Amino acid sequence: MQSPQPFKVCPQCQQPTVIDAAVCQRCGRVYRSTAPIPQVTQTFTADGRKPSTLPLFANWCAKWGAVGWSVLCLAGLLYGMNRAGQHIDQYRGGPGETGASIGIAIGIGMWAFIWLAVAGPCAVVYFLTRPRGS
Ligand SMILES: [Zn+2]
Repeated sequence: MQSPQPFKVCPQCQQPTVIDAAVCQRCGRVYRSTAPIPQVTQTFTADGRKPSTLPLFANWCAKWGAVGWSVLCLAGLLYGMNRAGQHIDQYRGGPGETGASIGIAIGIGMWAFIWLAVAGPCAVVYFLTRPRGS
């Protein structure tokens, strides 16, 4: 079964003509367009979506965010331990030594928690958005 042929009407003589006719068969008028139906030339990627650079950007951010944050935390931890070590010397041999040690342990634990809270999601994003085949 064939669908009815689309047609256009000549603006000069009102004669219906086939849609892809270039010249009116009755009055000889030259039509401006011979293909009024838009051709679908849109291209799609294999998965039907437009290629996006967002995953690559997120991957880059996650990678360098995790690396930068780790370096920052490590530097801060070393600095903090150095400072705490000086304090421990003050309390060494006294009743405050145990308390200072506990304080340092809690401080390092909090530091590790804060580090993990940022580096963890970064690592997850990094592995999720990692380009295939690399
Ligand atoms: Zn005509």
